[in-house]
Amino acid sequence: MRFDLPSDKIPTAWFNALAHLPEPMDPPLHPGTREPVGPDDLSPLFPMALIEQEMSPAPWVDVPGEVIDILKLWRPTPLVRAERLEQELGTPARIYYKDESVSPAGSHKPNTAVPQAFYNKAEGITRLTTETGAGQWGTSLAFATAQYGIECKVYMVRTSFDSKPYRRILMETWGAECVPSPVADPSSPGSLGMAISDAVADAAGRADSHYALGSVLNHVLLHQTVIGLEAKEQLALAGEGLPSVVIGACGGGSNLGGIAFPFMNDAGVRLLAVEPTSCPTLTEGSYGYDFGDTAGLTPLMPMYTLGADFMPPEIHAGGLRYHGDSPIVSALVKAGRMEAVACPQSKVFEAATLFARTEGKLPAPETGHAIRAAIDEALAAKETGEEKVILFNYSGHGFLDLSAYDAYNQGNLIDE
Ligand SMILES: *Cc1c(COP(=O)(O)O)cnc(C)c1O
Repeated sequence: MRFDLPSDKIPTAWFNALAHLPEPMDPPLHPGTREPVGPDDLSPLFPMALIEQEMSPAPWVDVPGEVIDILKLWRPTPLVRAERLEQELGTPARIYYKDESVSPAGSHKPNTAVPQAFYNKAEGITRLTTETGAGQWGTSLAFATAQYGIECKVYMVRTSFDSKPYRRILMETWGAECVPSPVADPSSPGSLGMAISDAVADAAGRADSHYALGSVLNHVLLHQTVIGLEAKEQLALAGEGLPSVVIGACGGGSNLGGIAFPFMNDAGVRLLAVEPTSCPTLTEGSYGYDFGDTAGLTPLMPMYTLGADFMPPEIHAGGLRYHGDSPIVSALVKAGRMEAVACPQSKVFEAATLFARTEGKLPAPETGHAIRAAIDEALAAKETGEEKVILFNYSGHGFLDLSAYDAYNQGNLIDE
């Protein structure tokens, strides 16, 4: 019930959702002048190749061979039919998941960390800075920079730095430096927005350094489309046509965009974003221009947002605690092409535990959101008797989130 592709089937071009949007997107605005940003505004932070991808109108963008050579370490990833879960639910739906947990860092994030490190090195950059929340992105960039022999400094949200040492240890083992953020205020618990401010200020101040972002930006989502492109081929291998619905957990939108965008032109395929009720950007935020960070250093982006100073409550799905969302995902939701739902974490852990007991794998709490929605879709199909095909993104494993499972197992997990 597992559908594998040979390594020569790794996609050789990324799918560029920008070129396929129903309406052209509003441009990002300069934080000072509020004029549309141009390539020169971004060049202190990003290599020209990524700036071009950020704005590219090309429907497809070639994947460099040197990037494919590293992706081959774990790609193509498996597509698995969750038959035991289907049986447990008694649903006529067929449930498939794309297993991105098999990467070295344990999530989908290396799919973009590798090309970002590659393009920076190709333009002579020897050091990258970034922020990380729970640590998944920091570990992914630490892995990728180690592959290319460049330095990496990670600003980690202080609460996670203090409470979750394992991902810091992974980063350090891969050779990166990891410090708690905000650097200027050791009494603050920190937030993703503050950590972005720290990492951007560091990179902007040094000629040898650039900044790398793990989600939200167009080029990040572009790199993640290998997920959906492979899944399309694997569904055909499984004898399926198009899925009825494609589901992803949504923090900044990268794993969701990665699996869903290659299906955006396929009429009749529903696209579904799943977010936590405690950080309900798409379901309760407002659409408009906002900063990506707290200090107002980043360009203003058109997106659904809860406000750049929104402080989400502590939840176990740290990767979903971001006030904004990808402008492309936001545009698709606004246009009605993509749906969004929010789930409380108790229901998420109930679904994640059922998945672990039936399918064996222990999902990341973020991934649990996609599983919750997939199960709800399958239960709805049981009511109607519909034989629908559900595809979701298994964005990462939960081996470094065991304390969250412990809290759930002991009955100590609360909903905000
Ligand atoms: C970071 C992360 C997410 C959320 O980020 P997106 O950019 O929305 O994909 C989801 N799942 C896992 C496992 C993650 O590490």
